[in-house]
Amino acid sequence: MDFKQYIREVPNFPKPGVSYKDITPLLLEPRIVNLCVEAICDNIPPQKQIHKVVGIESRGFLLSTLIAQKLNAGVVLVRKPGKLPYKTHTKSYSLEYGEDAIEMHVDAVKKGENVLIHDDVLATGGTAKATNELVEMCGGLVVQNNFLIELESLQGRGQLLNQEIYSLMMY
Ligand code: AMP
Repeated sequence: MDFKQYIREVPNFPKPGVSYKDITPLLLEPRIVNLCVEAICDNIPPQKQIHKVVGIESRGFLLSTLIAQKLNAGVVLVRKPGKLPYKTHTKSYSLEYGEDAIEMHVDAVKKGENVLIHDDVLATGGTAKATNELVEMCGGLVVQNNFLIELESLQGRGQLLNQEIYSLMMY
């Protein structure tokens, strides 16, 4: 299946020089979304029960819910600061210019649980790295980081050394 035909590349969005990978055409096709979820689930390291699927705000929420349903796992939301209502762990990370942070509820992942992390795009890897650290703060074990799309030139994998990574589409 050529999944890339369902990704719209928008040049210079949200700023000059960025080629934005828009997954909304894919989301319009339920059969294709289902094939994406199946491909991701087929590529999870075997013999491990997954307890939680962590979705990264905001497009990561979409497929993480479907993946979690298929695995009979819980869904965990990782969000920008101030969005989650209960006590949170917070992790800051550097951007090209400045800093950002993400949060996760302190009780979302229990010690020893097996966790998948999902987002739509792996770019520089800063967000995914911080998410791995949030899971580890709770004592969770990250079994795999998976993405619909990986932007190879940005070398996000370099931020996730020693982590299992699966990306459905490479650009
Ligand atoms: P990063 O921390 O640099 O790996 O950025 C990852 C986050 O930014 C993901 O949540 C993506 O949704 C978003 N993102 C970064 N670059 C792009 C891009 N070229 N197209 C679409 N989303 C992107």
